[in-house]
Amino acid sequence: MWRGISNVKKKYIEGIRYQACNGIKIKFWLDPWLKDKPLCDVFPGLFAVANTKDFFIADMFEIEESGRLSWNCQFNRRLYDYEIREVVRLLADLDVFCFEDGEDDGREWKWNKGKSFSVKSCYNNITHPQSSTPFPVDKIWSKEWSQRVSFFLWLVYKLRILTYDSLMKKGRYGPNVCYMCLKKEESVNHTLLHCDFAQNIWRMLLLEVVDKIKLMMAFWVEGREEFRGVSIEQMVVNWKEMFYDPP
Ligand SMILES: [Zn+2]
Repeated sequence: MWRGISNVKKKYIEGIRYQACNGIKIKFWLDPWLKDKPLCDVFPGLFAVANTKDFFIADMFEIEESGRLSWNCQFNRRLYDYEIREVVRLLADLDVFCFEDGEDDGREWKWNKGKSFSVKSCYNNITHPQSSTPFPVDKIWSKEWSQRVSFFLWLVYKLRILTYDSLMKKGRYGPNVCYMCLKKEESVNHTLLHCDFAQNIWRMLLLEVVDKIKLMMAFWVEGREEFRGVSIEQMVVNWKEMFYDPP
């Protein structure tokens, strides 16, 4: 039960968006104010040796005469070279922080339109987590085309089409090579976007064969008898043939 409660707490914390202004209410390492995750998770190695684990943002910098912030991350030992490189990365990230004197730090709730916390929005997010990009429901489940197109788009969006990388996760073994270009590994992004073959398709689409493709797509969308037996796997694995020589 305690694990469950601690998971809910973690989710609750994920739902808070911090707006750092004067930095007096937000913990530098422990609150997710600069990125989606707290800095202790982004730079775990530095956090492990930080002397300032519990400090607020405002305790971590001084304002120079020029108005620039001078960050003072204290560590409990000398840093190794690779840790110094991490500090450089951290300082580069900190550059985006815009100090606003007199303006209190703010917090808002990400998962509710009104930006204020509600148990319902927290519960909804635990049961149906949102990705950072909202799911394009209207674009995918549109009534303007057949459900099988929507279904395919949905599978693509969820990276669930049976490209070889997915098949390997399901236990199929063998070298993963794109069937179409024989150069790279087969994955949804490669197959549909980056493969030389896919690139040619996009190029052609944008040039003069729109009509031919429309016709072929129309056959498919209409659910012509010949297409009924075709599986997603066949469609993906053999779409070069399917495209040029439909069943
Ligand atoms: Zn390829």
